Amino acid sequence: MKDIPYKIYLEEKEMPKYWYNLRADMKKKPAPLVNPGTGKPVTAADLEPVFCGDLVAQELDNDTAYFEIPEEIYNFYKMYRPSPLVRAYCLEKVLNTPAHIYYKFEGNNTSGSHKLNSAIAQAYYAKKQGLKGVTTETGAGQWGTALSMACSYFNLDCKVYMVKVSYEQKPFRREVMRTYGASVTPSPSETTNVGRQILKEHPGTTGSLGCAISEAVEAAVSSEGYRYVLGSVLNQVLLHQSVIGLETEAALKKYDIKPDIIIGCAGGGSNLGGLISPFMRDKIQGKLDARIVAVEPASCPSFTRGVYAYDFCDTGKVCPLAKMYTLGSGFIPAPNHAGGLRYHGMSPILSELYDEGLMEAVSVPQTEVFKAAERFARVEGILPAPESSHAIKVAIDEAEKCRETGEAKNIVFGLTGTGYFDMVAYEKFHNGQMDDYIPSDEELKKSFDTLPKL
Ligand SMILES: *Cc1c(COP(=O)(O)O)cnc(C)c1O
Repeated sequence: MKDIPYKIYLEEKEMPKYWYNLRADMKKKPAPLVNPGTGKPVTAADLEPVFCGDLVAQELDNDTAYFEIPEEIYNFYKMYRPSPLVRAYCLEKVLNTPAHIYYKFEGNNTSGSHKLNSAIAQAYYAKKQGLKGVTTETGAGQWGTALSMACSYFNLDCKVYMVKVSYEQKPFRREVMRTYGASVTPSPSETTNVGRQILKEHPGTTGSLGCAISEAVEAAVSSEGYRYVLGSVLNQVLLHQSVIGLETEAALKKYDIKPDIIIGCAGGGSNLGGLISPFMRDKIQGKLDARIVAVEPASCPSFTRGVYAYDFCDTGKVCPLAKMYTLGSGFIPAPNHAGGLRYHGMSPILSELYDEGLMEAVSVPQTEVFKAAERFARVEGILPAPESSHAIKVAIDEAEKCRETGEAKNIVFGLTGTGYFDMVAYEKFHNGQMDDYIPSDEELKKSFDTLPKL
């Protein structure tokens, strides 16, 4: 057996030239988006006022397995990819585990996360279509940052609606976006009809992702030459994020490593969907017998406590309906929830795979997540994002189980980003001011009652 280095790098020429569309190999396809007006599956014509044409085609394509990565995007990827697959030797040592732990690190770019992989693709197609700019929402700010970088690269205007609580608590994120030329508006705002309506109904609200999405969509469809872009959940985003999984697959192959457990954090499901895509294909085709595990916060448990149903993607109910594991579009995680991953729904692709039993999901309370984050930071030298730390927590749990059983399993997890802009959350944790609010069944039921009846 070859000695495995701390970092398995691919060469530039080994980077994937194609994105992989897992839907092409799914036996049962994810449920289509539905037009809330007609109750019928959305058509390209329904989506084109909102999204760029090429992205609409990717969104609706359940059959094409490989999409060539356009050269301009490929060249941009080369600035920060391939990303390393790291063998966590130091973590293994402190855990005293026979398991082999690997993580795919996506935090090596200024946006600090995997989101740039899709941001650059979406900005490219907007430019290609001759648009003036794009609008979007951002919660914690990683997506807004990534999109600002991508838009400045292609000289596009970028309007970001940032959830008000984050706008106020994360001034540095805001300034990074403005450095790249984006305009940042706290949401809900007075600049859109839906924002004004939400403010009238809930004066003093600190906003939510669902609400910021409604504002960004309205801003796009009411401005000439603009389209809306979204950083997760959608099929097109999982397609772009497949670069994570394809690189991981190539790196593991170099050393003949077969993964036994693949773990990723799940907010809207884009990093996890990207990471697992080639492995899930092999699993579906009976070539790989690995466990695939989604990790979500106990305070926003879409997979583990949600229902699989058609729901609105946004609070203002302007977007198509998606069939997904959801907590209801009115669900807003408790204000003390610091760890990101706060979207009420989940990618329709992952929802279908989970429903068929092809993957598992666990939820973890946030103080456990920050404990794991700190443990990891102290030995592996990377300060992880709270979101990524959900995956770290479960990777550590699995490695500790291996210590009990003596099995040398190969555990692979996605380390989606760095946590430098999350120090307020780390501060709360260090000061003992963080608690684990978990929604009650009654609260969830109230939220499920708002699901649309089809
Ligand atoms: C946005 C984000 C996530 C969660 O989003 P997914 O679409 O579920 O991948 C996870 N980690 C980081 C660092 C993020 O920025």
